[in-house]
Amino acid sequence: MPSVNDIRSTFLNFYEKNGHRVVDSSPLVPRNDPTLMFANSGMVQFKNLFTGLETRDYNRATSAQKCVRAGGKHNDLDNVGYTARHHTFFEMLGNFSFGDYFKEQAIPYAWELLTKDFGIPKDKLLVTVYHTDDEAANIWKKVANLSDDKIIRIASDDNFWRMGPTGPCGPCTEIFYDHGDHIWGGPPGSAEEDGDRFIEIWNLVFMQFEQFEDGSMKDLAAQSIDTGMGLERIAALLQGKHDNYDTDLMRALIEASANATSSDPDGPGKVHHRVIADHLRSTSFLIADGVMPSNEGRGYVLRRIMRRAMRHAHMLGAQDPVMYKLVPSLVQQMGAAYPELGRAQPMIEETLRSEETRFRQTLDRGLRLLDDELGKLPEGADLPGEAAFKLYDTYGFPLDLTQDALREKGRAVDVGGFDTAMAEQKAKARAAWAGSGETQDATIWYDLAEKHGTTEFLGYDTEEAEGQI
Ligand code: ATP
Ligand code: MG
Ligand code: MG
Ligand code: MG
Repeated sequence: MPSVNDIRSTFLNFYEKNGHRVVDSSPLVPRNDPTLMFANSGMVQFKNLFTGLETRDYNRATSAQKCVRAGGKHNDLDNVGYTARHHTFFEMLGNFSFGDYFKEQAIPYAWELLTKDFGIPKDKLLVTVYHTDDEAANIWKKVANLSDDKIIRIASDDNFWRMGPTGPCGPCTEIFYDHGDHIWGGPPGSAEEDGDRFIEIWNLVFMQFEQFEDGSMKDLAAQSIDTGMGLERIAALLQGKHDNYDTDLMRALIEASANATSSDPDGPGKVHHRVIADHLRSTSFLIADGVMPSNEGRGYVLRRIMRRAMRHAHMLGAQDPVMYKLVPSLVQQMGAAYPELGRAQPMIEETLRSEETRFRQTLDRGLRLLDDELGKLPEGADLPGEAAFKLYDTYGFPLDLTQDALREKGRAVDVGGFDTAMAEQKAKARAAWAGSGETQDATIWYDLAEKHGTTEFLGYDTEEAEGQI
Protein backbone atom coordinates (compact mmCIF):
# COMPACT_ATOMS: atom_id res chain seq x y z
CA MET A 1 0.00 0.00 0.00
CA PRO A 2 1.55 3.35 -0.98
CA SER A 3 2.21 5.77 1.86
CA VAL A 4 1.24 9.45 1.71
CA ASN A 5 4.90 10.20 1.02
CA ASP A 6 4.98 7.68 -1.87
CA ILE A 7 1.84 9.19 -3.41
CA ARG A 8 3.28 12.70 -3.32
CA SER A 9 6.37 11.44 -5.16
CA THR A 10 4.36 9.49 -7.74
CA PHE A 11 2.44 12.65 -8.61
CA LEU A 12 5.50 14.86 -8.92
CA ASN A 13 7.45 12.22 -10.86
CA PHE A 14 4.60 11.74 -13.31
CA TYR A 15 4.56 15.39 -14.25
CA GLU A 16 8.32 15.72 -14.18
CA LYS A 17 8.53 12.84 -16.64
CA ASN A 18 6.07 14.82 -18.78
CA GLY A 19 8.27 17.89 -18.99
CA HIS A 20 7.18 19.80 -15.86
CA ARG A 21 9.60 21.58 -13.54
CA VAL A 22 9.23 20.40 -9.95
CA VAL A 23 8.88 23.56 -7.86
CA ASP A 24 9.02 23.62 -4.05
CA SER A 25 5.98 24.67 -2.07
CA SER A 26 5.97 28.38 -1.33
CA PRO A 27 5.69 29.45 2.33
CA LEU A 28 2.22 29.63 3.87
CA VAL A 29 2.56 33.39 4.24
CA PRO A 30 2.38 34.69 0.68
CA ARG A 31 5.41 36.80 -0.14
CA ASN A 32 4.01 39.48 -2.39
CA ASP A 33 0.34 39.36 -1.64
CA PRO A 34 -0.80 41.25 1.45
CA THR A 35 -4.46 40.66 0.53
CA LEU A 36 -4.17 36.92 0.98
CA MET A 37 -3.96 35.56 4.49
CA PHE A 38 -2.39 32.17 3.75
CA ALA A 39 -1.51 30.20 0.65
CA ASN A 40 -4.72 28.30 -0.04
CA SER A 41 -3.92 26.65 -3.36
CA GLY A 42 -1.03 25.66 -5.56
CA MET A 43 -1.48 28.50 -8.03
CA VAL A 44 -0.80 31.27 -5.52
CA GLN A 45 2.96 31.32 -6.06
CA PHE A 46 2.47 31.32 -9.85
CA LYS A 47 -0.06 34.13 -10.10
CA ASN A 48 2.23 36.47 -12.00
CA LEU A 49 3.08 33.76 -14.51
CA PHE A 50 -0.58 33.34 -15.36
CA THR A 51 -1.13 37.04 -15.87
CA GLY A 52 2.08 37.36 -17.88
CA LEU A 53 3.64 39.86 -15.46
CA GLU A 54 6.51 37.47 -14.98
CA THR A 55 8.19 34.78 -17.07
CA ARG A 56 10.56 32.03 -16.02
CA ASP A 57 12.69 29.50 -17.79
CA TYR A 58 9.88 26.93 -17.68
CA ASN A 59 6.28 26.98 -18.83
CA ARG A 60 5.15 23.76 -17.15
CA ALA A 61 5.42 23.21 -13.43
CA THR A 62 4.33 20.77 -10.77
CA SER A 63 4.27 21.17 -6.99
CA ALA A 64 3.00 19.94 -3.66
CA GLN A 65 1.83 23.14 -1.99
CA LYS A 66 1.23 23.67 1.72
CA CYS A 67 -2.25 25.16 2.12
CA VAL A 68 -4.19 26.55 5.06
CA ARG A 69 -7.92 27.21 4.83
CA ALA A 70 -8.89 28.53 8.23
CA GLY A 71 -10.06 32.06 7.64
CA GLY A 72 -11.17 34.39 4.89
CA LYS A 73 -12.86 33.17 1.77
CA HIS A 74 -11.98 29.50 2.13
CA ASN A 75 -12.64 28.60 5.74
CA ASP A 76 -12.80 24.89 6.47
CA LEU A 77 -12.15 25.21 10.22
CA ASP A 78 -15.65 24.21 11.24
CA ASN A 79 -15.59 21.14 9.01
CA VAL A 80 -12.53 19.65 10.67
CA GLY A 81 -13.18 16.55 12.72
CA TYR A 82 -16.68 16.23 11.34
CA THR A 83 -16.28 15.60 7.60
CA ALA A 84 -14.12 12.86 6.14
CA ARG A 85 -12.42 15.21 3.74
CA HIS A 86 -11.54 18.59 5.24
CA HIS A 87 -8.43 19.84 6.99
CA THR A 88 -7.27 23.29 7.99
CA PHE A 89 -3.82 22.32 6.68
CA PHE A 90 -3.48 20.11 3.63
CA GLU A 91 -1.17 19.56 0.69
CA MET A 92 -2.38 20.44 -2.77
CA LEU A 93 -0.72 18.58 -5.61
CA GLY A 94 -0.84 20.46 -8.87
CA ASN A 95 0.32 20.71 -12.44
CA PHE A 96 0.47 24.03 -14.23
CA SER A 97 0.80 25.18 -17.79
CA PHE A 98 1.69 28.81 -18.39
CA GLY A 99 0.42 29.40 -21.91
CA ASP A 100 1.68 25.99 -22.96
CA TYR A 101 -0.76 23.04 -23.16
CA PHE A 102 -4.48 23.44 -22.52
CA LYS A 103 -7.54 21.21 -22.01
CA GLU A 104 -6.66 18.73 -24.74
CA GLN A 105 -3.55 17.75 -22.79
CA ALA A 106 -4.51 18.47 -19.17
CA ILE A 107 -7.42 16.01 -19.19
CA PRO A 108 -5.46 13.07 -20.70
CA TYR A 109 -2.61 13.65 -18.20
CA ALA A 110 -5.02 13.55 -15.29
CA TRP A 111 -6.80 10.47 -16.59
CA GLU A 112 -3.56 8.61 -17.25
CA LEU A 113 -2.18 9.34 -13.79
CA LEU A 114 -5.39 8.34 -12.01
CA THR A 115 -6.17 5.17 -13.92
CA LYS A 116 -2.68 3.92 -14.87
CA ASP A 117 -0.09 5.12 -12.35
CA PHE A 118 -2.51 5.17 -9.43
CA GLY A 119 -4.55 2.27 -10.81
CA ILE A 120 -7.96 3.62 -9.81
CA PRO A 121 -10.81 1.62 -11.40
CA LYS A 122 -12.42 3.75 -14.06
CA ASP A 123 -15.98 2.98 -12.98
CA LYS A 124 -15.41 4.68 -9.62
CA LEU A 125 -14.68 8.04 -11.24
CA LEU A 126 -17.01 10.73 -12.49
CA VAL A 127 -16.48 14.33 -13.50
CA THR A 128 -18.23 17.67 -13.66
CA VAL A 129 -17.81 20.31 -16.35
CA TYR A 130 -19.13 23.84 -16.63
CA HIS A 131 -22.50 23.66 -18.37
CA THR A 132 -21.36 25.51 -21.49
CA ASP A 133 -17.99 23.80 -21.79
CA ASP A 134 -18.72 21.32 -24.61
CA GLU A 135 -15.05 21.19 -25.41
CA ALA A 136 -14.14 19.70 -22.02
CA ALA A 137 -17.13 17.34 -22.09
CA ASN A 138 -16.05 16.05 -25.51
CA ILE A 139 -12.46 15.54 -24.42
CA TRP A 140 -13.63 13.57 -21.39
CA LYS A 141 -15.82 11.43 -23.59
CA LYS A 142 -13.01 10.75 -26.02
CA VAL A 143 -10.20 10.22 -23.53
CA ALA A 144 -12.02 8.41 -20.75
CA ASN A 145 -15.00 7.07 -22.60
CA LEU A 146 -17.24 8.07 -19.70
CA SER A 147 -20.97 7.67 -20.16
CA ASP A 148 -23.02 10.87 -20.32
CA ASP A 149 -24.36 10.48 -16.78
CA LYS A 150 -20.76 10.55 -15.51
CA ILE A 151 -19.99 13.87 -17.17
CA ILE A 152 -22.18 16.14 -15.11
CA ARG A 153 -22.82 19.66 -16.34
CA ILE A 154 -22.86 22.24 -13.55
CA ALA A 155 -24.09 25.80 -14.04
CA SER A 156 -22.87 27.25 -10.73
CA ASP A 157 -19.71 29.17 -9.99
CA ASP A 158 -18.30 25.99 -8.44
CA ASN A 159 -17.27 25.18 -11.99
CA PHE A 160 -16.21 28.62 -13.09
CA TRP A 161 -13.03 30.05 -11.63
CA ARG A 162 -11.96 33.69 -11.44
CA MET A 163 -8.67 35.10 -10.22
CA GLY A 164 -10.50 38.24 -9.12
CA PRO A 165 -13.27 40.57 -10.30
CA THR A 166 -11.26 41.15 -13.48
CA GLY A 167 -8.43 39.20 -15.09
CA PRO A 168 -8.00 35.53 -15.97
CA CYS A 169 -10.98 33.24 -15.52
CA GLY A 170 -12.47 30.12 -17.03
CA PRO A 171 -14.38 26.90 -16.59
CA CYS A 172 -13.26 24.02 -14.37
CA THR A 173 -13.73 20.33 -14.37
CA GLU A 174 -13.80 18.49 -11.05
CA ILE A 175 -13.03 14.79 -10.67
CA PHE A 176 -14.95 12.81 -8.06
CA TYR A 177 -14.48 9.36 -6.60
CA ASP A 178 -17.47 7.27 -5.58
CA HIS A 179 -16.76 5.62 -2.23
CA GLY A 180 -19.85 3.44 -2.53
CA ASP A 181 -23.49 3.37 -1.55
CA HIS A 182 -22.80 2.40 2.06
CA ILE A 183 -21.93 6.08 2.60
CA TRP A 184 -24.52 8.83 2.54
CA GLY A 185 -24.33 11.37 -0.26
CA GLY A 186 -25.24 11.99 -3.88
CA PRO A 187 -23.36 12.96 -7.03
CA PRO A 188 -22.39 16.59 -7.59
CA GLY A 189 -25.37 18.71 -8.55
CA SER A 190 -27.82 16.47 -6.67
CA ALA A 191 -29.67 17.31 -3.48
CA GLU A 192 -27.35 15.07 -1.41
CA GLU A 193 -24.10 16.40 -2.84
CA ASP A 194 -22.90 17.57 0.58
CA GLY A 195 -22.62 13.99 1.77
CA ASP A 196 -19.29 12.20 1.83
CA ARG A 197 -20.02 9.43 -0.66
CA PHE A 198 -18.78 11.27 -3.76
CA ILE A 199 -15.54 12.97 -2.86
CA GLU A 200 -13.97 15.63 -5.01
CA ILE A 201 -10.35 14.67 -5.48
CA TRP A 202 -9.11 16.96 -8.22
CA ASN A 203 -10.03 20.30 -9.71
CA LEU A 204 -8.69 21.27 -13.15
CA VAL A 205 -9.02 24.96 -13.96
CA PHE A 206 -8.92 26.12 -17.57
CA MET A 207 -7.80 29.73 -17.67
CA GLN A 208 -9.48 30.52 -20.91
CA PHE A 209 -10.78 34.09 -20.81
CA GLU A 210 -9.93 37.52 -19.57
CA GLN A 211 -12.72 39.36 -17.78
CA PHE A 212 -12.85 43.14 -18.22
CA GLU A 213 -14.37 45.79 -16.00
CA ASP A 214 -17.27 46.44 -18.39
CA GLY A 215 -18.35 42.82 -18.01
CA SER A 216 -17.07 41.65 -21.38
CA MET A 217 -14.78 38.65 -21.79
CA LYS A 218 -12.34 37.69 -24.46
CA ASP A 219 -10.08 34.72 -25.07
CA LEU A 220 -6.77 34.97 -23.27
CA ALA A 221 -3.78 35.21 -25.54
CA ALA A 222 -2.01 32.62 -23.43
CA GLN A 223 -4.48 30.02 -22.19
CA SER A 224 -3.24 28.22 -19.11
CA ILE A 225 -3.86 25.30 -16.81
CA ASP A 226 -4.01 25.25 -13.01
CA THR A 227 -4.94 22.09 -11.17
CA GLY A 228 -5.26 21.08 -7.54
CA MET A 229 -5.61 17.65 -6.00
CA GLY A 230 -5.85 17.09 -2.25
CA LEU A 231 -3.04 14.70 -1.28
CA GLU A 232 -4.93 13.48 1.78
CA ARG A 233 -8.01 12.66 -0.29
CA ILE A 234 -6.18 10.74 -3.00
CA ALA A 235 -4.17 8.96 -0.30
CA ALA A 236 -7.32 7.87 1.51
CA LEU A 237 -8.75 6.21 -1.55
CA LEU A 238 -5.47 4.64 -2.64
CA GLN A 239 -5.11 3.18 0.84
CA GLY A 240 -8.61 1.71 0.62
CA LYS A 241 -10.04 4.17 3.14
CA HIS A 242 -12.93 6.52 2.96
CA ASP A 243 -11.74 9.00 5.51
CA ASN A 244 -8.66 11.23 5.18
CA TYR A 245 -8.03 10.72 8.88
CA ASP A 246 -7.51 6.98 8.32
CA THR A 247 -4.45 7.46 6.09
CA ASP A 248 -1.07 6.33 7.44
CA LEU A 249 0.12 9.90 8.08
CA MET A 250 -2.96 11.20 9.89
CA ARG A 251 -3.31 7.93 11.75
CA ALA A 252 0.22 8.28 13.16
CA LEU A 253 -0.70 11.72 14.52
CA ILE A 254 -3.98 10.48 15.96
CA GLU A 255 -2.12 7.68 17.71
CA ALA A 256 0.40 10.16 19.10
CA SER A 257 -2.51 12.18 20.45
CA ALA A 258 -4.07 9.07 21.98
CA ASN A 259 -0.77 8.10 23.62
CA ALA A 260 -0.12 11.55 25.02
CA THR A 261 -3.59 11.66 26.59
CA SER A 262 -3.75 7.95 27.51
CA SER A 263 -7.00 7.57 25.65
CA ASP A 264 -8.49 5.36 22.97
CA PRO A 265 -7.96 6.77 19.44
CA ASP A 266 -11.29 5.30 18.34
CA GLY A 267 -13.26 5.73 21.53
CA PRO A 268 -15.70 8.46 22.47
CA GLY A 269 -12.90 11.02 22.11
CA LYS A 270 -12.44 10.24 18.43
CA VAL A 271 -13.43 13.70 17.18
CA HIS A 272 -11.03 15.31 19.66
CA HIS A 273 -8.13 13.28 18.27
CA ARG A 274 -9.02 14.20 14.71
CA VAL A 275 -9.15 17.89 15.53
CA ILE A 276 -5.87 17.70 17.45
CA ALA A 277 -4.11 15.87 14.59
CA ASP A 278 -5.32 18.41 12.07
CA HIS A 279 -4.57 21.47 14.17
CA LEU A 280 -1.14 20.12 15.07
CA ARG A 281 -0.26 20.27 11.39
CA SER A 282 -1.65 23.73 10.71
CA THR A 283 -0.14 25.29 13.81
CA SER A 284 3.28 23.66 13.35
CA PHE A 285 3.54 24.59 9.69
CA LEU A 286 2.41 28.15 10.40
CA ILE A 287 5.00 28.58 13.14
CA ALA A 288 7.67 27.05 10.87
CA ASP A 289 6.78 29.74 8.32
CA GLY A 290 7.23 32.50 10.86
CA VAL A 291 3.71 33.13 12.18
CA MET A 292 3.51 33.61 15.96
CA PRO A 293 0.36 33.61 18.10
CA SER A 294 -0.96 37.12 18.68
CA ASN A 295 -4.16 39.11 18.92
CA GLU A 296 -4.31 40.24 15.36
CA GLY A 297 -4.23 39.14 11.76
CA ARG A 298 -2.47 35.90 10.89
CA GLY A 299 -1.23 35.48 14.45
CA TYR A 300 -4.80 35.50 15.74
CA VAL A 301 -5.85 32.81 13.29
CA LEU A 302 -2.94 30.74 14.58
CA ARG A 303 -3.96 31.39 18.20
CA ARG A 304 -7.55 30.43 17.46
CA ILE A 305 -6.47 27.12 15.94
CA MET A 306 -4.02 26.40 18.78
CA ARG A 307 -6.51 27.15 21.54
CA ARG A 308 -9.16 25.14 19.85
CA ALA A 309 -6.87 22.12 19.77
CA MET A 310 -5.97 22.74 23.41
CA ARG A 311 -9.61 22.63 24.47
CA HIS A 312 -9.98 19.31 22.69
CA ALA A 313 -6.92 17.96 24.54
CA HIS A 314 -8.50 19.19 27.77
CA MET A 315 -11.72 17.35 26.89
CA LEU A 316 -9.66 14.18 26.68
CA GLY A 317 -8.69 14.70 30.30
CA ALA A 318 -5.20 16.10 29.74
CA GLN A 319 -3.82 17.65 32.94
CA ASP A 320 -0.73 19.19 31.34
CA PRO A 321 0.20 20.70 28.00
CA VAL A 322 -0.11 18.10 25.25
CA MET A 323 0.36 19.66 21.85
CA TYR A 324 4.11 20.16 22.03
CA LYS A 325 4.58 16.47 22.79
CA LEU A 326 3.14 15.56 19.40
CA VAL A 327 5.59 17.60 17.34
CA PRO A 328 8.23 14.82 17.06
CA SER A 329 5.65 12.52 15.45
CA LEU A 330 4.78 15.21 12.94
CA VAL A 331 8.44 15.82 12.13
CA GLN A 332 8.90 12.09 11.71
CA GLN A 333 6.02 11.92 9.24
CA MET A 334 6.60 15.10 7.27
CA GLY A 335 10.10 16.33 8.02
CA ALA A 336 11.67 14.69 4.96
CA ALA A 337 9.26 16.41 2.54
CA TYR A 338 9.35 19.71 4.46
CA PRO A 339 12.78 20.23 6.06
CA GLU A 340 11.66 23.58 7.53
CA LEU A 341 9.64 21.57 10.00
CA GLY A 342 12.70 19.92 11.51
CA ARG A 343 14.62 23.18 11.54
CA ALA A 344 11.82 24.91 13.41
CA GLN A 345 11.06 22.00 15.73
CA PRO A 346 12.43 23.60 18.94
CA MET A 347 10.56 26.82 18.23
CA ILE A 348 7.33 25.01 17.42
CA GLU A 349 7.54 22.99 20.62
CA GLU A 350 8.35 25.99 22.76
CA THR A 351 5.59 28.14 21.25
CA LEU A 352 2.99 25.41 21.71
CA ARG A 353 4.13 24.64 25.24
CA SER A 354 4.05 28.22 26.46
CA GLU A 355 0.73 29.00 24.77
CA GLU A 356 -0.86 25.88 26.25
CA THR A 357 0.58 26.57 29.69
CA ARG A 358 -0.89 30.06 29.58
CA PHE A 359 -4.23 29.07 28.18
CA ARG A 360 -4.69 26.25 30.66
CA GLN A 361 -4.68 28.83 33.45
CA THR A 362 -8.05 30.14 32.30
CA LEU A 363 -9.43 27.24 30.28
CA ASP A 364 -10.85 25.31 33.22
CA ARG A 365 -12.54 28.31 34.76
CA GLY A 366 -13.89 29.41 31.39
CA LEU A 367 -15.40 26.01 30.70
CA ARG A 368 -16.99 26.00 34.15
CA LEU A 369 -18.47 29.42 33.50
CA LEU A 370 -19.79 28.14 30.18
CA ASP A 371 -21.49 25.21 31.92
CA ASP A 372 -22.98 27.49 34.59
CA GLU A 373 -24.37 29.81 31.96
CA LEU A 374 -25.84 26.93 30.00
CA GLY A 375 -27.44 25.60 33.19
CA LYS A 376 -29.33 28.86 33.60
CA LEU A 377 -30.80 28.76 30.10
CA PRO A 378 -33.93 27.09 28.83
CA GLU A 379 -33.37 23.88 26.85
CA GLY A 380 -31.73 24.54 23.47
CA ALA A 381 -31.43 28.34 23.87
CA ASP A 382 -28.47 30.18 22.37
CA LEU A 383 -25.68 31.30 24.69
CA PRO A 384 -26.16 35.04 25.28
CA GLY A 385 -23.62 37.26 23.56
CA GLU A 386 -22.44 38.80 26.86
CA ALA A 387 -21.45 35.38 28.18
CA ALA A 388 -19.50 34.58 25.01
CA PHE A 389 -17.87 37.98 25.27
CA LYS A 390 -16.87 37.40 28.87
CA LEU A 391 -15.30 34.10 27.85
CA TYR A 392 -13.43 35.93 25.15
CA ASP A 393 -12.39 38.94 27.16
CA THR A 394 -11.59 37.36 30.53
CA TYR A 395 -10.74 33.77 29.70
CA GLY A 396 -9.14 34.13 26.28
CA PHE A 397 -11.74 32.02 24.45
CA PRO A 398 -11.86 32.99 20.78
CA LEU A 399 -15.50 33.10 19.69
CA ASP A 400 -15.10 30.11 17.41
CA LEU A 401 -13.75 28.06 20.32
CA THR A 402 -16.92 28.75 22.31
CA GLN A 403 -19.00 27.92 19.25
CA ASP A 404 -17.05 24.69 18.79
CA ALA A 405 -17.64 23.75 22.45
CA LEU A 406 -21.36 24.47 22.11
CA ARG A 407 -21.69 22.55 18.90
CA GLU A 408 -21.07 19.30 20.80
CA LYS A 409 -24.13 20.16 22.87
CA GLY A 410 -26.21 21.21 19.87
CA ARG A 411 -26.14 24.86 20.94
CA ALA A 412 -25.03 28.11 19.34
CA VAL A 413 -23.92 31.61 20.37
CA ASP A 414 -25.97 34.75 19.90
CA VAL A 415 -23.34 36.32 17.65
CA GLY A 416 -25.22 39.63 17.33
CA GLY A 417 -25.16 39.92 21.13
CA PHE A 418 -21.47 39.11 21.15
CA ASP A 419 -20.75 41.90 18.65
CA THR A 420 -22.82 44.34 20.72
CA ALA A 421 -20.96 43.44 23.89
CA MET A 422 -17.67 43.90 22.03
CA ALA A 423 -18.76 47.33 20.77
CA GLU A 424 -19.82 48.41 24.27
CA GLN A 425 -16.54 47.31 25.77
CA LYS A 426 -14.69 49.20 23.12
CA ALA A 427 -16.67 52.36 23.80
CA LYS A 428 -15.94 52.02 27.53
CA ALA A 429 -12.26 51.51 26.88
CA ARG A 430 -12.22 54.64 24.74
CA ALA A 431 -13.96 56.68 27.42
CA ALA A 432 -11.64 55.40 30.13
CA TRP A 433 -8.51 56.17 28.18
CA ALA A 434 -9.61 59.54 26.87
CA GLY A 435 -7.77 62.30 28.71
CA SER A 436 -5.74 59.87 30.78
CA GLY A 437 -2.61 61.08 29.06
CA GLU A 438 -1.52 57.52 28.45
CA THR A 439 -1.20 55.71 25.21
CA GLN A 440 -4.31 54.27 23.73
CA ASP A 441 -3.15 50.69 23.67
CA ALA A 442 -6.35 49.26 25.06
CA THR A 443 -8.45 50.99 22.47
CA ILE A 444 -6.21 49.80 19.73
CA TRP A 445 -6.40 46.30 21.10
CA TYR A 446 -10.17 46.33 21.01
CA ASP A 447 -10.12 47.69 17.49
CA LEU A 448 -7.93 44.83 16.43
CA ALA A 449 -9.92 42.30 18.35
CA GLU A 450 -13.07 43.56 16.77
CA LYS A 451 -11.60 43.40 13.35
CA HIS A 452 -9.94 40.05 13.71
CA GLY A 453 -11.31 38.38 16.77
CA THR A 454 -14.80 37.58 15.61
CA THR A 455 -15.86 34.69 13.47
CA GLU A 456 -14.65 35.88 10.10
CA PHE A 457 -11.90 38.04 8.73
CA LEU A 458 -14.14 40.12 6.58
CA GLY A 459 -11.38 42.51 5.69
CA TYR A 460 -9.64 39.73 3.85
CA ASP A 461 -12.80 38.23 2.48
CA THR A 462 -13.58 40.98 0.08
CA GLU A 463 -10.08 41.50 -1.16
CA GLU A 464 -8.74 38.01 -1.12
CA ALA A 465 -7.68 36.68 -4.46
CA GLU A 466 -8.99 33.26 -5.16
CA GLY A 467 -7.12 30.06 -5.40
CA GLN A 468 -9.01 27.09 -6.63
CA ILE A 469 -12.72 27.29 -6.14
P1 ATP B 1 -14.65 20.87 -1.39
O1 ATP B 1 -15.77 21.21 -2.35
O2 ATP B 1 -14.56 19.42 -1.07
O3 ATP B 1 -14.65 21.75 -0.18
P2 ATP B 1 -13.04 22.63 -2.96
O4 ATP B 1 -13.79 22.64 -4.26
O5 ATP B 1 -13.28 23.73 -2.01
O6 ATP B 1 -13.29 21.22 -2.19
P3 ATP B 1 -10.64 23.29 -4.38
O7 ATP B 1 -10.59 24.71 -4.01
O8 ATP B 1 -11.11 22.91 -5.73
O9 ATP B 1 -11.48 22.51 -3.25
O10 ATP B 1 -9.20 22.67 -4.11
C1 ATP B 1 -8.60 21.70 -4.94
C2 ATP B 1 -8.50 20.36 -4.23
O11 ATP B 1 -7.91 20.49 -2.93
C3 ATP B 1 -9.85 19.71 -3.97
O12 ATP B 1 -10.29 19.01 -5.10
C4 ATP B 1 -9.54 18.81 -2.79
O13 ATP B 1 -9.00 17.58 -3.25
C5 ATP B 1 -8.48 19.56 -2.03
N1 ATP B 1 -9.04 20.29 -0.86
C6 ATP B 1 -9.73 21.46 -0.87
N2 ATP B 1 -10.03 21.86 0.38
C7 ATP B 1 -9.50 20.93 1.22
C8 ATP B 1 -9.45 20.79 2.64
N3 ATP B 1 -9.99 21.70 3.45
N4 ATP B 1 -8.82 19.72 3.15
C9 ATP B 1 -8.26 18.78 2.34
N5 ATP B 1 -8.27 18.85 0.99
C10 ATP B 1 -8.88 19.92 0.43
MG1 MG C 1 -14.20 23.82 -0.19
MG1 MG D 1 -15.74 21.70 -4.55
MG1 MG E 1 -13.04 22.31 -6.32
